[in-house]
Amino acid sequence: MTRILLIAVMLWTLPVRASQPDLVLKGHLTNSNHQTYIQVPFDVPQQTQRITVKFDYSGKQERSVIDLGLTGPDGRLLGWSGGNKSEFTISAVDATPSYIPTPIHAGRWHLLLGIPNLRKMSSSDYEAHIFFSKTLGASDEPDVISKPLKAQAGWYRGDFHAHTAHSDGSCNRWNSSEKVPCPVFVTALAAAKRGLDFMAITDHNTLSHAHSVRELQPYFNPMLLLVGREITTFFGHANVFGTLADINFQVVSQESDSNRLLQDVAAQKGLISINHPVRPSGELCMGCGWNNQTDWKKVQAIEVVNGADVDTIFSGVPFWHSQLNAGHYITGISGSDNHQPDQEKPNYTGRVGQPSTVVFASELSQNAIINAVRQGHAFIDITGSNDKLLEITAQSSGGEKAMMGDRLQAAKGTNIQLRIQVKNAAGSNVQLWKDGKKWSLDLDNHITRNDQTIETSWSFDGDAHWLRADVQDQSGKTIMIGNPIYLHSK
Ligand SMILES: [Zn+2]
Ligand SMILES: [Zn+2]
Repeated sequence: MTRILLIAVMLWTLPVRASQPDLVLKGHLTNSNHQTYIQVPFDVPQQTQRITVKFDYSGKQERSVIDLGLTGPDGRLLGWSGGNKSEFTISAVDATPSYIPTPIHAGRWHLLLGIPNLRKMSSSDYEAHIFFSKTLGASDEPDVISKPLKAQAGWYRGDFHAHTAHSDGSCNRWNSSEKVPCPVFVTALAAAKRGLDFMAITDHNTLSHAHSVRELQPYFNPMLLLVGREITTFFGHANVFGTLADINFQVVSQESDSNRLLQDVAAQKGLISINHPVRPSGELCMGCGWNNQTDWKKVQAIEVVNGADVDTIFSGVPFWHSQLNAGHYITGISGSDNHQPDQEKPNYTGRVGQPSTVVFASELSQNAIINAVRQGHAFIDITGSNDKLLEITAQSSGGEKAMMGDRLQAAKGTNIQLRIQVKNAAGSNVQLWKDGKKWSLDLDNHITRNDQTIETSWSFDGDAHWLRADVQDQSGKTIMIGNPIYLHSK
């Protein structure tokens, strides 16, 4: 009895992962249904943006077979997966292969069942679980289609910025040196070969790549493909993640429209990252620098390092620092901004995965990666390595602990212990920053081993500060950029 109770309590306290279906359709089929088609009706409510179906049936050991398809409210066939898939999703932007992306209209839809075989003495019970998503937000996707690719918390490295055939990405045709619009597959393959944990596709002002990504994801498991878009305006560029909803990119007034854009992204629970903020804007690259009036409370990230800014690769850092100094909590990330995934020059920033951003996420999933950026649990690896690590923690003498991105509250005079762990960068040096200025504590900042932790402490003066660390190689070139820990007085 005690044991049963214990199990019941444990189940109750576990996070509920599997979301419940909005509708369950059940049916019983017999030999009278052999080699027929059956339309199973269901009503799609107003404001539905995505339909996801999970289908199963009994009797497979007796060779019973039920094939699956879908028709819309006007009777049009929207796809047929036969016996090859037990679950699928469909929205206006993307759909599981076998299905056609289609705007979801409320009304009577049908599952189309085909029964190629049901023996004379056999029967089969089927069950279809149907999920209706009210938004095209990543957090509104049922678990059926957004399972984590790795369940454990950890550091995951990836690239937040790349272009394909769906905008101005190009590569050589497979058997010649002729440049052609480059399929998403080539970028994804380059990322997988580099050992990335996640790769974002961010074409300009479009999400037409989302459907390709849906097809490619199983092939590249466990590398996560993220669907983003680069909102490209006359006054600046910004990547948006976490939503496939329409966002109006047509900013024609710097003052009113740019904040409307940020509000639209916030309303869709999207994550926005301002790209290459100080790239010169002119006829070579119209609207490339960020020149918008900005409500910074609505901005979660800045692309501090952009791989295409070859000669001015750190130009985003002072821009980021000035926002941090103004009191905004904004995560520094990076992106290769790759446009030619088949260019594989070694150590060339701008190739797929260089620079990379390494985030500490609760699992490898779209929502967890986005959350990690929101929380600032991230550092930038300019070398795009597979193994470099920069971890910074602060601990007050009261025992409270913070990692990059966190806020630490302490009373004036409290001793703050700083720990900086650097992996796989022997020969480098650590540089601390406080409120945008280089900060030299009494610190032996030289890294001589492949896994080294530097510790130092500081008596907190009670003012609000942000602290962060970079790592520089022997020649003084920055190779890793850490995010801030924010200090506040109690
Ligand atoms: Zn851009
Ligand atoms: Zn770009």
